[in-house]
Amino acid sequence: MPCAKTSPAYIALSKGNELARRAGRAYAAMKSCSLCPRDCKVDRLKGELGYCRIGKRAGVASANLHHGEEPPISGTRGSGTIFFTGCNMSCRFCQNWPISHLRHGKAVTPERLAQMMLDLKKRGAHNINLVTPSHVVPQFLAGLTIAAKDGLDLPIVYNSNGYEGLDALSLLDGVIDIYMPDIKYSTREAAQRCSLAPDYWEHVRPALKEMYRQVGALAMDDEGIGVRGLLIRHLVLPGGLAGSEKVFEFVATELSPDVPVNLMSQYFPAHDAVDDPLLGRGISKEEFASAEAALHQYNLTNGWIQHM
Ligand code: SF4
Repeated sequence: MPCAKTSPAYIALSKGNELARRAGRAYAAMKSCSLCPRDCKVDRLKGELGYCRIGKRAGVASANLHHGEEPPISGTRGSGTIFFTGCNMSCRFCQNWPISHLRHGKAVTPERLAQMMLDLKKRGAHNINLVTPSHVVPQFLAGLTIAAKDGLDLPIVYNSNGYEGLDALSLLDGVIDIYMPDIKYSTREAAQRCSLAPDYWEHVRPALKEMYRQVGALAMDDEGIGVRGLLIRHLVLPGGLAGSEKVFEFVATELSPDVPVNLMSQYFPAHDAVDDPLLGRGISKEEFASAEAALHQYNLTNGWIQHM
């Protein structure tokens, strides 16, 4: 059922100054940083760097209209995509590794970030799509506080790896309209081997439950553009490393079969995966078919299948 277009919830938070208070609380959390499960406890406000290697200022690699996201996100005019520099994971196969690992991009002030969001609105974006934002929640909230006062009224898409802290997500309650996280792995071994994040499965499940509690399953307007809700991405990996069946069981039984899943076949060995004995090849047709069968087994038919 399509839902009516409504103003994003952060507009009300902005009017009552709650958005600015949230930004303040998020900056305070950077003093002994625990914004994500790495829990580095470094003082980013003083320039100390933790696992993500991003300090007080966020970095931005690009801000552009993107037409290759899921149909409700790209729509007809494109998604206003802001690629943040750095990441709290170390995926060996990262396709954006110059941005996430080598930290290409420019440091930006909250004022500049706000200007980027407003420019994307002027260019016709359906939404503001934050790519890899988990480590820059404070800087985003500060930028949004300014942009909302200056007329930003587009839905905000939180496009993340799913390795999130619950305290940071609580600061985003009523701010984020659309959550679009990955679920990358369902085993400790795969998450350690591929991303140096052995506790990924422990953290991604409560994080996604919290996202679902905040926004429910993705709802679209009568033109098929996403308005609010959760959708999930799952990339099939060689050798069953993504643990797809357990992932789908979790989505169907602990979230809802209504949550759309994008089953992706686009894996190719990039970055450190090129010479890796397990990750150094594309996926086979059989591997993808097995993941697709598991998706159907759990009746997750609301999303998209990126056929090989
Ligand atoms: S956001 Fe960065 S510094 Fe903070 S806990 Fe996560 S990885 Fe560590």
